[in-house]
Amino acid sequence: MSQYFQIHRTVGAGRRATLTLPHATVETPVFMPVGTQGTVKAIPQHLLEELDVRLLLGNTYHLYLRPGHEAIRRMGGLHRFMSWERAILTDSGGFQVFSLSDLRKVTEEGVAFRSHIDGSSHFFSPEHSMDVQIALGSDIAMAFDECTEYPADYARARASLDITLQWAKRSKEHFEAHKSSVPWAVDKAQGSELRAQERLEGQFPSLFGIVQGGMFAELRREAAERLVEMDFPGYAIGGLSVGEPRELTREMIATTLPLLPKDKPRYVMGVGYPDEIAEYARMGVDMMDCVLPTRAARHGLLFTSEGRLNIKNRQYAEDQGPVDGNCGCMVCRRYSRAYLRHLMAAQEPLAAVLNTVHNLAFYLETMRKVREEMA
Ligand SMILES: [Zn+2]
Repeated sequence: MSQYFQIHRTVGAGRRATLTLPHATVETPVFMPVGTQGTVKAIPQHLLEELDVRLLLGNTYHLYLRPGHEAIRRMGGLHRFMSWERAILTDSGGFQVFSLSDLRKVTEEGVAFRSHIDGSSHFFSPEHSMDVQIALGSDIAMAFDECTEYPADYARARASLDITLQWAKRSKEHFEAHKSSVPWAVDKAQGSELRAQERLEGQFPSLFGIVQGGMFAELRREAAERLVEMDFPGYAIGGLSVGEPRELTREMIATTLPLLPKDKPRYVMGVGYPDEIAEYARMGVDMMDCVLPTRAARHGLLFTSEGRLNIKNRQYAEDQGPVDGNCGCMVCRRYSRAYLRHLMAAQEPLAAVLNTVHNLAFYLETMRKVREEMA
């Protein structure tokens, strides 16, 4: 059994495992908070540590545009820049290029696009996406892919998948040739001080392949088979949660999972509600990320053991109870619903901080309970 991904127990299709990354040992199934711009919005890094987050996600597209991957490389990589010693997964930039940028033009070579910040022109190829992720110094990088939009007809999903599969091969070749130049591996070689030094011994980042194929089971199957032939250390299922009905998301996951190697981590990108992430974990998904807990928090939408609540509602104006009586997070232990409602009404920045801490704690606890079921 590999040191990288050790499965301790399987219950049905679900499994409890340990993923050993250069900067952290991660218990799976795991939920990864999204740190788009080198920050999980509203939450300082020491609070993420208190929440026992071991692995978070950074967005290649955003960090490439601002402050720039070369600037981050010069500052020792993303871990050091944001003072986060635990693990980081970066996406390929593909999803944001397709969802945020203007005037994009896709060719076999790559994607030309304009920045959503200042309109400047840029070009991402698989090789360039790998260079950016290596400069950031992620523990897990993702292959450059085209996230097929929803709805897309068969011909469109077919063409999109062909590009994604070519790009996966090019991503892997370039990544394998250059992965040893991540800033923390270079630091190590040069003998400079790095607090996590011991754990980094002999370790390099890894690259996951991404299964696309739109909402067509046949294309998902082909994508999985072709990627498995390329032999990645882990596999993601992408292109979901893009507007399709929930049953279809589940169906695509259920179709794809059995085609991925049992002994490697499986990551479903961009999902979901708390009950969904628990369900997918029981189906055999090891990793998930989503902006939902953090984004919803900033809008006053809180997840609890009794369902969702909108803290802005008048009914909480003098409610002295915690957000969730069954939650032991630092917010529920200390603050009342009435206070959180007041902070939202007064548009105080602390509202975003406290709401986000609770929502993240709830998501992390949801995954901890699933792991416990499999203990
Ligand atoms: Zn709480």
